[in-house]
Amino acid sequence: MGVQEPSPFDVEAIRADFPILDRKVGGDPESPGEGPGDDTPLVYLDNAATSHTPDPVVDAIADYYRGYNANVHRGIHQLSQEASVAYEEAHDTVADFIGAAGREEIVFTKNTTEAVNLVAYAWGLAELGPEDNVVLSKMEHHASLVTWQQIGKRTGADVRFIDVTDEGRLDMDDAAALIDDDTAMVSVVHVSNTLGTINPIGDLADLAHDHGALIFVDGAQSVPNRPVDVDDLGVDFLAFSSHKMLGPTGIGALYGREEILDGMQPYLYGGDMIRRVTFEDSTWEDLPWKFEAGTPSIAQGIAFAVAIEYLEDIGLDRVEAHEDLLAEYAYDELEAVGGVEIYGPPGDDRGGLVAFNVEGVHAHDLSSILNDYGIAIRAGDHCTQPLHDEMGVAASARASFYVYNTVEEIDALVEAVGEARDLFA
Ligand code: PLP
Repeated sequence: MGVQEPSPFDVEAIRADFPILDRKVGGDPESPGEGPGDDTPLVYLDNAATSHTPDPVVDAIADYYRGYNANVHRGIHQLSQEASVAYEEAHDTVADFIGAAGREEIVFTKNTTEAVNLVAYAWGLAELGPEDNVVLSKMEHHASLVTWQQIGKRTGADVRFIDVTDEGRLDMDDAAALIDDDTAMVSVVHVSNTLGTINPIGDLADLAHDHGALIFVDGAQSVPNRPVDVDDLGVDFLAFSSHKMLGPTGIGALYGREEILDGMQPYLYGGDMIRRVTFEDSTWEDLPWKFEAGTPSIAQGIAFAVAIEYLEDIGLDRVEAHEDLLAEYAYDELEAVGGVEIYGPPGDDRGGLVAFNVEGVHAHDLSSILNDYGIAIRAGDHCTQPLHDEMGVAASARASFYVYNTVEEIDALVEAVGEARDLFA
């Protein structure tokens, strides 16, 4: 196996905060396919789907339920006040993390998917008509692709897709041709969850704004892994999920520029989001609460902020450097196996994931064999079916890396991929 630069931080110290990484899983590689076992150390390379949760984040959830569990914004009693302050301050932490002006620009949602739907329903249904178009890319996750596609059907707006080059990058000439004066929204993924491509969001934001359009960025695979600043990028909306960045499931965030959120009607109606209700009409709470109807995910929101603090303690530039190192190493080593087709740009120019296929081995079979070695990867279309159609395959295998992954784990992956190839040869 190749030699690799050391990580910019102490990965073993990080791993100590994740007891799940000590689990034993898998089966017997000598008799593959015989199902789950408990004798092989876990090698978790499915972080683009969901990351693990360090002790301080788990503790934050337990502390809330043990110490100050109460509904927010409603009670005058002490527990409710403590919960409200922690939940509201979590919005400040998220705002600071991505360079937003303040909590009024951060709406807590269930996940990235709900954040896209919020904008598509609240903004899209009100603003789009048959004369408008919405520009996406061919590498969108179903979370945005299906949502804008369906909003397009309901409003008559034309939904267009920017081409992807053979190398797996956005075709910026096509972007310039598709984005025109009738474009109302450009909605693009920052880092592709299939190709690993890091898209030129700043250039796309300029293109969108030059034509009077807004830009929505799916940051599900970028915000967890690299410094992202909404002002530097010049974006109007940004969505991301806590469970992909060391936080709990059930919580995510939508960033929206204040004046745009201010002008939007609510997406969900009910308690907590109103200021005054009569039988005839209702008025809305201030931002961001106008968009957070009903009892929110309180413990999850508080723990999301703790996950962000954990990442900030490592330093997002160092997280990015660590992932770059692992992605480049995995790309080179997988390529060296032979009979492996890797999708997307070269290893030194991608986010921390590598999707690939092994000649003669279906991705599902590969994943099942790797499971016998204790190695967890993702196999399937990664919620990018139209992109897989363009790639000419129904499925691919994907290994994705995070702060606790090591070069030795990639060596284990590469060795097992080689064994799988030989098994099916
Ligand atoms: N967008 C991208 C690029 C993703 O990778 C994912 C998750 O895999 C999503 C959106 C959807 O995230 P969630 O399921 O948390 O809503």
